[in-house]
Amino acid sequence: MKVLKFGGTSVGSVENMNHVKSIINDGSKKIVVLSAMSGTTNALVSIASEIEKNNINQAESEIDKLYKKYVDVVDNLLTDKYLNVGVMAYVNERFNFLLRCLEKPFSLTLENEVLAQGELLSTYMFNAYLQQEGINSQLLAALDFMKINEVKEPDFKYIQEHLNEVLNSTPGADIYITQGFICLDDAGKVSNLQRGGSDYTATIVGAVIKAEEVQIWTDIDGMHNNDPRFVEGTQPISDLSFDEAAELAYFGAKILHPQTVLPVREDGIPVRLKNTMNPPAPGTLISSNHVENGIKAIAAKDNITAIKIKSGRMLQAHGFLRKVFEIFEVHETSIDMITTSEVAVSLTIDDDKNLDKIVSELEAIATIEVDKNQSIVCLVGHSIVNHEDTFKLFQILKDVKIRMISYGGSRNNISLLIDTKDKVETLQKLNAYLFELVTL
Ligand code: ASP
Ligand code: MG
Repeated sequence: MKVLKFGGTSVGSVENMNHVKSIINDGSKKIVVLSAMSGTTNALVSIASEIEKNNINQAESEIDKLYKKYVDVVDNLLTDKYLNVGVMAYVNERFNFLLRCLEKPFSLTLENEVLAQGELLSTYMFNAYLQQEGINSQLLAALDFMKINEVKEPDFKYIQEHLNEVLNSTPGADIYITQGFICLDDAGKVSNLQRGGSDYTATIVGAVIKAEEVQIWTDIDGMHNNDPRFVEGTQPISDLSFDEAAELAYFGAKILHPQTVLPVREDGIPVRLKNTMNPPAPGTLISSNHVENGIKAIAAKDNITAIKIKSGRMLQAHGFLRKVFEIFEVHETSIDMITTSEVAVSLTIDDDKNLDKIVSELEAIATIEVDKNQSIVCLVGHSIVNHEDTFKLFQILKDVKIRMISYGGSRNNISLLIDTKDKVETLQKLNAYLFELVTL
């Protein structure tokens, strides 16, 4: 069985839902994971935050605006009177729930319950639409089987047991529809897999049913080799290994949730990225195969802070780095890039919530310099550390000030730290010389 996940734009309009229907209606049994309609989760986040700030009127008017949108979609999508009435009753139920949240005290669970409404709505509507079109589909409630543990990781054993139970109790369906993103936490309360988490739902489900393939359908022709927002003429990458995809997903290649490939990597279940608006396009295939052909992709992550820690005490001393790392650990801040010399260590963080505390503790053992507004540019490809492309980098970027380089931490990744103001130029130059084969 395959697992197919469709993102917010794919279910964002009646027309697109019709595309999705044609894609999934090919006679083979499958599980379809859906996001909320595009814009909905953002709207729900905003509603929850207004409730938190006690701006009840504002929250109510946002709920009302969202409701009108759904009434419109239901009316266009469900021409069958009977189904239309049924779905409207469900939509009303969900919005009445939201209205009741206005009277409750704010809590994290309340926020999670508010956020969960988007996927509950999209799956219910889409399942009814499939029935209207004569497709034998069945809605599965993700909250009956998706669960995370105390450390917020999927509880695979629980998910496997419960999903199998649910599937066995409805053996006759051709297409199972379920919600992405939402799950229960270890205490059985409504929670989620973080923003963009529907991708993760799809690979978790794929892993527990040992799917033959997981497909992630979005509105772009696969993972691109550079950031299309800043560089013209970027190309979809046809093949990526799990390792390469994991590096890219983390480094801001926004198309995939960072955790997506983890559940399926061990079993080698391929993940295919496809475009709902252009189904014939081959997209990107992420699998266990490695193709060695130099730098395949470039991605950048902004809002990075660099910290330079300089100390005479480092010279030939041991235990210095441990002290440094301990300070970051105490303040629950993870370090992304790190480079060292005999007397200094530079490292980067992307979460600067506790920066002041970290700096003041570091100042007790070293001289500290902090640079904000930095970007990590990450170059990915199988075994690129030995590839000739890599040796061209300094020449290509001879006019860009490179603040740090991380080389050799993984064979598949080289990271450069630059000032964010140089990012666009850096991405464009790398694109021209590495991918468009402009000669140096
Ligand atoms: N609807 C959720 C979000 O917007 C999850 C997802 O779309 O993957 O983050
Ligand atoms: Mg997404």
